[in-house]
Amino acid sequence: MKIPQYARYEYCYTKSCEFLEEFEIKAFPINVLEIVHQQKWGLVSYSEIMHKFHCDRKTVIRILGSSDGYTIWDGTNYSIAYNDDQKLGDRTRFTIMHEIGHIYLGHLLDFEATKLYRGSLTKRENRVLENEANAFARNVLSPVSMYLTLKNKSAINVARTFGITTTAAEARIDFINRDVELVRHLKLSEKIMLVYHRFMKKRKCIMCDAQFFQKYKYCPICGNKNSLQWGDGKMIYPKLETYEDGKLKECPICQNEETNIDGDHCIICGIPLVNICSNEECSHQVLPSNARYCPICGGETTFYRRGILKAWDYDEDNLPPESGFMNIPDTAMYIPDIDEELPFN
Ligand SMILES: [Zn+2]
Ligand SMILES: [Zn+2]
Ligand SMILES: [Zn+2]
Ligand SMILES: [Zn+2]
Repeated sequence: MKIPQYARYEYCYTKSCEFLEEFEIKAFPINVLEIVHQQKWGLVSYSEIMHKFHCDRKTVIRILGSSDGYTIWDGTNYSIAYNDDQKLGDRTRFTIMHEIGHIYLGHLLDFEATKLYRGSLTKRENRVLENEANAFARNVLSPVSMYLTLKNKSAINVARTFGITTTAAEARIDFINRDVELVRHLKLSEKIMLVYHRFMKKRKCIMCDAQFFQKYKYCPICGNKNSLQWGDGKMIYPKLETYEDGKLKECPICQNEETNIDGDHCIICGIPLVNICSNEECSHQVLPSNARYCPICGGETTFYRRGILKAWDYDEDNLPPESGFMNIPDTAMYIPDIDEELPFN
């Protein structure tokens, strides 16, 4: 593919929306380092390169051909280098998201000219790709829906809220009408509002640090009453894979995979495959597969009762002494030496 003549803003906008959804962005400023880490991309600061090659910052900038950042694709993975010069202020977040933009927009894979070395691009080609990555970074780091709901829209407050420089904040302010226009044109308004809703609805449990996007009376993980507050939790309590109706795709006890059939129990071992509240007086709605407690009445769930789910604070390494494995006598492990019996011997 050839590098386009003009920046593809509609494409960049659609991709930024996709990105916000894929990474379930709900906290601002966005933790870009976590995203890079999650993707297992390489990340190195200019200072680290300077230290490793015993050179100064100017040399790194000259060799990479960029005063902000640079990304390479080595055939299996991406690595991002970014200028961490303190004098640039709070600029690294934008720089890294700009580089993520190059990756997410496919710049390093789609165009023959960018595959090996971007230094071979013409000035114009370079400008097009830079504009695209900037548009992507702006709309991911300071989404239209978040900006519009901000009470104080001064450059300083925009910069502080989204963790960008005041120059980047001013660009956000300048581009807002055009970005809003694009959102409407692309019919992405609803999608982009989801970011705001995720942000507003997020709750964390102050007891078990689980994250939710709903208000609950009881925490479904630790069962505590009124322990959910607005904010970002840190713990992920893994969910078992289910069909849309909440039924497990695989039986956690006997590994039977034939579960997409009538009935709520495993046809092999008989355990319940749908997680519901065990309190009979409660409205038995299907609960998430990681819920230990009913968020409505606080009763235990069927998965928790059956031991399919462990207590939220269950610690495998810290079990009381009696509950470990039984001592299996060595003789049970004795495998008779049958070599001589084998017909081909
Ligand atoms: Zn760039
Ligand atoms: Zn909890
Ligand atoms: Zn089973
Ligand atoms: Zn209940």
